[in-house]
Amino acid sequence: MGLPRYSLFGWFALVALLVCGACDSQPAPSSPSVLVLVLDSLHAGHSSAHGYARDTTPRFTRFAAAGVRFEQAYSQSSWTLPSTASLFTSLEQERHGVRTFNDALPESIPTLAERLRERGYRTHAIVQTPVLSSRHGLQQGFERYDVLDHSSASLERALELARESWEHRPGEPLLVYLHLAPPHMPYEPPAPFRGAFSAPDSSVSGSISECRRIHRAALAPDHPDVVALAARYDEHIAFADARAGELLEALARSAARPDAWVVWTSDHGEAFQQHGCQGHNATVYDEMLHVPLALARLDGTTPPQLVREPVSTMDVAPTLLELCGARPLGAELAGVSLREALSSGRAPAERLFSYSSRYKDDERQLHFAVRRGALKLVWRGDTGEAQLYDLVSDPGERVDARASHAQACEELQRDLERLRAVRIAGAPARTLAPAARPAERARLSELGYVEDSPDPGARSADGDGR
Ligand SMILES: [Zn+2]
Repeated sequence: MGLPRYSLFGWFALVALLVCGACDSQPAPSSPSVLVLVLDSLHAGHSSAHGYARDTTPRFTRFAAAGVRFEQAYSQSSWTLPSTASLFTSLEQERHGVRTFNDALPESIPTLAERLRERGYRTHAIVQTPVLSSRHGLQQGFERYDVLDHSSASLERALELARESWEHRPGEPLLVYLHLAPPHMPYEPPAPFRGAFSAPDSSVSGSISECRRIHRAALAPDHPDVVALAARYDEHIAFADARAGELLEALARSAARPDAWVVWTSDHGEAFQQHGCQGHNATVYDEMLHVPLALARLDGTTPPQLVREPVSTMDVAPTLLELCGARPLGAELAGVSLREALSSGRAPAERLFSYSSRYKDDERQLHFAVRRGALKLVWRGDTGEAQLYDLVSDPGERVDARASHAQACEELQRDLERLRAVRIAGAPARTLAPAARPAERARLSELGYVEDSPDPGARSADGDGR
């Protein structure tokens, strides 16, 4: 109080100089908490944020509008296990090696959780699906890894666990990976969602057996039963969206971690008889890969951006690690940091992406694709041929455009051959995770999965595309 004004200013300047000198120019990056929220099997084409006619995802749409939304985000694989490993490692399934139920992630491959833990984060995964059982090694880096079944009681438990973690020791940075089962099949949401989009007299239930019946009958996408099944799926999406949105509201209200980053996405899409398949994992057409993706601060302070360039869910880990000031995963990742998109609204253009379906013992069931810009070349093991699609003029991937893009097609063909050969030959040897216990196998079957044969030489019994 007795100091003249210039002395006070000089004192502050001296302190500022000392502080800056101590931290060697740049201020230390902060360590914001992170929530990665995944709704299983949510195809972007069924989200109202992507212009879908039904209001299936009002909460996601609101969340994404207050942050950075990626219009064209794709998973690398079309089913849960490899796609989640890709999200954690920023590597394609052929490089992280978790391609089948008989694989586990090698300890030598670093993960998002491991890097954040190195930086002092508490790490907690809550996965509401037995597909992500800890025998596949995805718990690497998580201090706590809770695996729950797909029941509605488990959904409530998963949400409760996330809230508890969030509010516990709020002064410490935290990573929560929350993987919720809905809208994964069976599409059986509770009231008031059940019936919201279906005809009152609809006899299509949304059960696993209904999904299988429709797939095996090879019904057309506009067949009334397929349309009715898609309505059940949409109801399940609306239910998942509501529960996820309520969780985010509760976390924001708690004010425990207001500057936290939230990523909201899915692990793959879902088909309704486009290209002859119901469900996921059998193909790499966009209905099985295109997912919603948005990144925002929990306190709603992110300047809104809409990013139109194609990106991958493998970009999530590099982006979060940069935002959290953590060590990158390593060199030669498939993903890139999208940190720049927060201010520019742009992602790198002209990247080469590759996608692959579920690996089975018979390579004829494999689908493999490469994409650059709007052009995507899809190779099918059953025909041994590749077809080119222009995703701008033909988003449904129906018309082979090889003739009209001859030169670009030739280049993509070379990329596809090179990557397919390198990836398949170079994949880590199967690590033979311990076989699922009978109870776990029963839960997998309730979700429509048939586990791969424990004998890698035997043909898989799962022949219905799921
Ligand atoms: Zn999934």
